[in-house]
Amino acid sequence: MAGNEGVATWMRRCLIAACGWVVAASCSSPSAPKEVPTKAAPPVSMDRQGPTAPVVAEAPSPEPAKPAPAPAFAPRFDPPRPAPPKVEPTVRVRVGTRLRKPQSFACPSGEFTVSVGTERWTAAAPVRVTATGTGWQVAAKGGARSFAAGPLVLKPIGKASIDWDGAGWPGVATLVALPEGLDVIMDVGVEEYLPGVLAKELYPQWDEDAFRAQAVAARSWVLVEESRWEGRRHYDVTSGESSQAWSGHTRNARAREAVSATRGMVLVYQGTVVPAFYSSSCGGRGANAFGSVTSNPEHDIPPVRSGDQPARTGCCESSSFKASANYRWSATITAATVKQAIREYGQRNGFPTWAGIDLPVAIDIAQTATNGRPIEYRLRFKDRNPVMIPAAKLREAINGGIPGEGGSRTLKSDDFTVAATPKGLVFTGRGFGHGVGMCQHGAQATAKAGKSWEQILERYYPSAQCVRAW
Ligand SMILES: [Zn+2]
Repeated sequence: MAGNEGVATWMRRCLIAACGWVVAASCSSPSAPKEVPTKAAPPVSMDRQGPTAPVVAEAPSPEPAKPAPAPAFAPRFDPPRPAPPKVEPTVRVRVGTRLRKPQSFACPSGEFTVSVGTERWTAAAPVRVTATGTGWQVAAKGGARSFAAGPLVLKPIGKASIDWDGAGWPGVATLVALPEGLDVIMDVGVEEYLPGVLAKELYPQWDEDAFRAQAVAARSWVLVEESRWEGRRHYDVTSGESSQAWSGHTRNARAREAVSATRGMVLVYQGTVVPAFYSSSCGGRGANAFGSVTSNPEHDIPPVRSGDQPARTGCCESSSFKASANYRWSATITAATVKQAIREYGQRNGFPTWAGIDLPVAIDIAQTATNGRPIEYRLRFKDRNPVMIPAAKLREAINGGIPGEGGSRTLKSDDFTVAATPKGLVFTGRGFGHGVGMCQHGAQATAKAGKSWEQILERYYPSAQCVRAW
């Protein structure tokens, strides 16, 4: 890895550039701390690993034959990483998805400009918007009007802030009618967007340096997403955990301060913005971005090759989080459930080998990253050749096959060992989330140990520089 600069050098660069750092958060299995935190749950997405090497139950001995090759994951597109923008961009955040019912909006001034294409109307709030199938019907205080089909923009007159769905949202709303329902997207400046991310991603009592590191990470990550989706999709990120969780407006003073103190600061590597993924807990060893949370080779860069870094000490195991069921966890799942989940996943995603698998009699680790974290598992069967499945895909497939809201968190990370028992396959795992980039619980522990937010970022995004973009 190139240029593992010392902290002093790094900090000097930041100061010279009057800058900050950033790391984008990521997405993926987040379990981020909620606005009303409690004990020691993890914030966003992360992972962990355990002290001892995974010992996978070697069930009935495998056949000598060669394992079937894992399917190739073709990237859908590989946009280059963007240069840091000189002007603060806006980001399109989808806050409502496939809504079937009419939606009502209000705003502080009580007036909106409603527009579709070149059609415009000044409407008194509240306005109620219905997608009619051929266009829009907008009912306002004192009148109603129809609009042709096309994205409908609700721009508050005066302050760009909208009351919708029981919360306040900064920005301007765009409504997009789709066959499955109505999407609501807020178009908001990055700096106005970020406080509501931090409020959702971190516990309010956490250290201000953890907040500032998170602000830089979240800013960097969203810049990469904004660049990635421009012209390809009608939104850049969602307000849920699949992106960065977002609360809209927040009164969380620590979140607002952290964003303000790091205004415009982003993490860059070789002149372009780092996709600063982060997650709740690495469990002691991070994961590589490429192959787990991204298939874009542009993202295969040292700052997010956590799996190539040494196993971590003084990370999430040194915080109170260590005692939680998210630092070390276990889950028992029947082989039949695993089989069915992988079959369905294979069918949905076009992987015929997975779509036809038998009942697994054992799952063991086929390949690990430099730091020991599994990156590929081998499924063994009674009468068939083993099948290899990348770690992140196996977790995604199995969680997707567990019914109910908790299904997606049954396997809390893709770092586990598996033992075959009479009750089923027992997964014993480390950490919470995908484990790429910054470990949020580790960031808090690092801050508590007296390190600055710049040092936290240097730790979790080695080789990245922190610069002020705007
Ligand atoms: Zn950690």
